[in-house]
Amino acid sequence: MRMRAFYEAVEEAARELYLRALKDIPADVRAALQRGLDAEKRDGNASAEQVMFTILENVRTADAQDTLVCQDTGLPVFKAVIGEDLMINGGELKRRLRRGCERATKEYPLRSNTVHPVTRKHTGTNTGDGIPVVKIEFREGSSALYLCAAPKGSGSENMSFLKMLNPSEGLQGVKRYVLECVLESGAKPCPPVIVGVGLGGTSDVAMALAKEASCFRKIGTRNADPVIAELEAWLLDRINRTGLGPQGLGGATTALAVHVEWAHTHISHNPVAVNMQCWRGERAEAVINGAGEVRFL
Ligand code: SF4
Repeated sequence: MRMRAFYEAVEEAARELYLRALKDIPADVRAALQRGLDAEKRDGNASAEQVMFTILENVRTADAQDTLVCQDTGLPVFKAVIGEDLMINGGELKRRLRRGCERATKEYPLRSNTVHPVTRKHTGTNTGDGIPVVKIEFREGSSALYLCAAPKGSGSENMSFLKMLNPSEGLQGVKRYVLECVLESGAKPCPPVIVGVGLGGTSDVAMALAKEASCFRKIGTRNADPVIAELEAWLLDRINRTGLGPQGLGGATTALAVHVEWAHTHISHNPVAVNMQCWRGERAEAVINGAGEVRFL
């Protein structure tokens, strides 16, 4: 009985988180957008200032009308961090997350984007094989479930890159590749972007790290490893000196943040993955305890 209440709370939270992520831009992203507007004002770049003002106006309008910030409802992506003291059924967790997305799509209603990769036939539910994407982690000393929804729109997700660098290319090779990816992306991911970089691991691990960096890290956080933190600061400075600017129309605010996540890797390879998140930076979080009590963060 107790577990039934828990899974019902998971389903309800998944529904709510999907909607909240699309409607309510996180506080750290709002603050970064405001800093971007202030920077363009200081630089006296009238067109960049206008673009940043319009973006913030878009956020304010969505707040006032309790509506979506952008038409692209994305593919639902969740991060679930399971407390190691919480005994739950992983299969039921995934089914409830999926059900929450289906209900949000039908009840709100949301545009459904999910199609078969060959026939392009719509499922109509924003769910399907492998969708929602669910990233599972575990936390020691916890008896709660943390959920974060970060639905991913196509404009930013299409700007995903992976290169297996030769280790001899070193840090310079990594820096060069990330800058190339930003320039190649141009206006397509709706800058100012959050640039997620995944370093090391295997090819799939590097891509997953890049997604963690672009979608699940709060703006203003720095990697705990000082070498990586220094790389984040260097990349942010250089990216914002490219002049690409808001919506690619010129200016000093090309990126709101650069986040780098890393893993150890093989002696003879050096994977580098880049995943862009657009200015919307959509993310919504909740914690659910074993009794099914939900706290939205
Ligand atoms: S990239 Fe982001 S802001 Fe631009 S259309 Fe897609 S979801 Fe909307």
